[in-house]
Amino acid sequence: MKITILGNCGPYPRAYGACSGYLFECGDIKILIDCGNGTMSRLQQKVTNLGELDMIILSHFHSDHISDVMVLRYAIGYKRMNNEIENPIPLYAPSTPKEDFHKLQFKNAFALKSIEENLKVNYKNLTISFKKMNHSIDCYGVMIKNNNEKFVYSADTKYCNQILELSQDADLLLCESTVLEKDKTPTTSHLSAKDAGQIAKKSNVGKLLLTHFWPEYNLEEIHSEASEVFDGNVQLSEEMKTYFI
Ligand SMILES: [Zn+2]
Ligand SMILES: [Zn+2]
Repeated sequence: MKITILGNCGPYPRAYGACSGYLFECGDIKILIDCGNGTMSRLQQKVTNLGELDMIILSHFHSDHISDVMVLRYAIGYKRMNNEIENPIPLYAPSTPKEDFHKLQFKNAFALKSIEENLKVNYKNLTISFKKMNHSIDCYGVMIKNNNEKFVYSADTKYCNQILELSQDADLLLCESTVLEKDKTPTTSHLSAKDAGQIAKKSNVGKLLLTHFWPEYNLEEIHSEASEVFDGNVQLSEEMKTYFI
């Protein structure tokens, strides 16, 4: 299993950067997880035929995670009309906000499926499950397992038990680390880098891969804050780099 970082900024990109978007692959299986602004262009550097996507997962409806889906639907919709893509691509997303969920459809591009707590999807040799995080709107963390490995994506969340449970014994945790601890307030609906380190430590994670970076930060500070808490493998995700699970 491997994950390619298409974009790692939030809530807006830095110059030449992109927001959240990740291409998960296992053998021939290709799953796009989140599709923030700037990621569709990069996706096509890795997946030349969009019909090869097995599935799309959107963790939640904040623009930095979904805005390029609004144009990806045009590409897939027109290719469906021209019979270049035979079947609608399965797309999993929270069913709320309702109007956002329904806006996703365009010319039958997608087979829309709503994510609910405890939804489990068995797909080929993979098991994909979801857990509701603690964010300002409905947002789901994602776990993908095959026989031997476990990958977890935190999506956007405050520190909560759900992310600890989801991350338990993950080989690789792709974890948001939006803020430095000094800038966190009670209303911040994100993790600090320190929180990410603590989650990795408590959940016995193999490798911590940090993402969803506030574009104004010096990322070395994010890295050192997480490393002070978690003495395992901590890396800052790099755009267009592939990490093996
Ligand atoms: Zn975000
Ligand atoms: Zn968000």
